Amino acid sequence: MNPVPESFGSLVFNDSVMRQRLPKDVFRQVQLSMTDGKRLDSAAATVVANAMKDWAIEKGATHFSHWFQPMTGITAEKHDSFLSPVGGGRVIMEFSGKELIQGEPDASSFPSGGLRATFEARGYTAWDPTSYAFIKDGILCIPTAFCSYGGEALDKKTPLLRSMEAINRQGMRILKLFGNHQVTSIKTTVGPEQEYFLIDREVYEKRKDLVFTGRTLFGAKPPKGQELDDHYFGAIKPRVAAFMKELNEELWKLGVMAKTEHNEAAPGQHELAPIFTTTNIAADHNQLTMEMMRKIARKHDLVCVLHEKPFAGVNGSGKHNNWSICSSDGANLLEPGETPYENAQFLLFLCAVIQAVDDYQDMLRISVASAGNDRRLGANEAPPAVVSMFLGTELENILTAIENETPYGNLEKEQIKVGVHVLPKFPKDTTDRNRTSPFAFTGNKFEFRMPGSSASISGVNVVLNTAVAESLRQYADELENAENFEAALHDLIRDVIRKHKRIVFNGNGYDDAWIREAESRGLLNLRTTPDCVPYYLAPKNIELFTRHKVYSETELRARYEIKLDSYCKVLHVEAQTLAEMSRKEVLPAVSAYVRSLSETVSARRTLDAEAPCRFEVEEISQLSRHVDNAYEKLLHLEGAIRALPRGDTLDRALFYRDHVLSCMEDLRLDLDEMERLTAAEFWPLPTYGDLMFSVN
Ligand code: ADP
Ligand code: MG
Repeated sequence: MNPVPESFGSLVFNDSVMRQRLPKDVFRQVQLSMTDGKRLDSAAATVVANAMKDWAIEKGATHFSHWFQPMTGITAEKHDSFLSPVGGGRVIMEFSGKELIQGEPDASSFPSGGLRATFEARGYTAWDPTSYAFIKDGILCIPTAFCSYGGEALDKKTPLLRSMEAINRQGMRILKLFGNHQVTSIKTTVGPEQEYFLIDREVYEKRKDLVFTGRTLFGAKPPKGQELDDHYFGAIKPRVAAFMKELNEELWKLGVMAKTEHNEAAPGQHELAPIFTTTNIAADHNQLTMEMMRKIARKHDLVCVLHEKPFAGVNGSGKHNNWSICSSDGANLLEPGETPYENAQFLLFLCAVIQAVDDYQDMLRISVASAGNDRRLGANEAPPAVVSMFLGTELENILTAIENETPYGNLEKEQIKVGVHVLPKFPKDTTDRNRTSPFAFTGNKFEFRMPGSSASISGVNVVLNTAVAESLRQYADELENAENFEAALHDLIRDVIRKHKRIVFNGNGYDDAWIREAESRGLLNLRTTPDCVPYYLAPKNIELFTRHKVYSETELRARYEIKLDSYCKVLHVEAQTLAEMSRKEVLPAVSAYVRSLSETVSARRTLDAEAPCRFEVEEISQLSRHVDNAYEKLLHLEGAIRALPRGDTLDRALFYRDHVLSCMEDLRLDLDEMERLTAAEFWPLPTYGDLMFSVN
């Protein structure tokens, strides 16, 4: 028997396990809670909890944990054992319905953006029955949402689930208008492509910057980088292959459908893509994937680096968020249809996305903002910080024809009437796929390329789901009251194209000319995290999220605080690390090298007073200059770290960006030059070459 299908999902309490182990009526209740969000009654919860526990114990589990995703961006778990005393010094293994449904972890150490000040420190976790329980390291993990006692979301899952409900509500109204009555719900689907670097563990551990900050804070360009393009899709090295094999096997057991893997553009860089699934499950699975990547790499004496920009001058890592909308009958609503009606419905959903991306560029930009990703966006290898969309020539021509009411293709001289005419077929996945666009239509889904490699995908999908729900809401309001549905639909689509076409750009997104044009089109160019985060609180954004009940205003304010605060913290740690490495490692090493060179000069000149000693003398003079410069800059940086303003979080973030970060960049210039000049035996750290080519 093929071992893969056999082991796939073997650690997941999925439908087939539930069907086997639960009484029929309880199984049906769980199904209903998954599809329609109906709450399980407590009797059923007890039955499910028992079945879960028995199954988990058979698989060797001893503990259970509510697995949740606080706003740190990673996952959290608190383990409780199944043990329960029964008197007489004996114990039994127990797990109650109540323990399944709700937990009460102490919320006080997780970021709350001020929500904690007004509410109790305790939080509670609530079971998300739409995402299966699974076993990890002998622990039964139950995917849960994490809220404060006042009901405020303290996590990444709760708003995502709410946004799924929002798009379901509005999308269903549209489908009804198209006479689609058999569909019972719609949901969005996501397949995130995950990029990462692998570095040999021994080499990695010699760099405090990698260990403390996830990226190199300095490092001279290696003689060979990615210029030969010989890594991309190249043969996978044996150690990497062994890592990938084990990673795939472990992910499969957890029900994660890891599918493709290949080398990426930079040396040491790789990618893993799963088969797409429902968005909130994809978000859970992506978290598991990142966790497994880190853990399994260690077993192979490797370190998996998920930072967005571990090395300057070399491609960074992103996480392409492939997103679409799917109805309960399995139809992809972003798939062009066969009949005029299907086509019209496709065009309307397409318009909803175009409008959403245009209206909420700022929120999409915020959703990918972090200190790490700021280094990547706009760096001539990743999408720019300007949000725009690529639709492909065929589709754009169709939209232009509708917009201008001019003939198109084989519809000879006749205008396209939406809902009446069959649209000409346009090829899916055409070769002109634009890899420089931040948001590209790829035939039946959109690929959002701005997210950073280390971030949870929840945030971007909350924005996408909610913004598209808002377009759909407006369309439904208008069309539900239309006297002539077809005519109203045609006009609506035409007007949306006219109003929002500025967001569509099919050219080279890496080109500077585009940035200028984008600005003249009135598109936002929000370069850094402190530039974009204030838009969180723009009235139109508060209105969007409160209207669709995805975030309350308080929750939005909390998230605004957390985003800026974590930006400051990241830069603070980076600045401290750079200062320490400069003072304790680099400057003493270079100074020692200078002394050794000076000793050589004296020795040589005792033999021959006229010896030019040009190499030594020039090295000494250049390095001495850099040591002096670097030291001044180091004092400056240390001063900046101490001079932090007291003001609010935005003031602090701006200070970090404008003063601390610029001191760091400035110091780096001398450090990199010193690295270039210093003898290898004196340089105290692995170089870029050592790091990127460390895995054989
Ligand atoms: P590429 O690197 O060319 O962009 P990949 O095959 O690496 O393509 O990744 C494409 C991703 O898109 C996969 O994760 C795939 O499952 C996902 N995908 C395909 N169809 C859909 C869809 N309808 N909804 C969401 N994601 C999808
Ligand atoms: Mg891709």
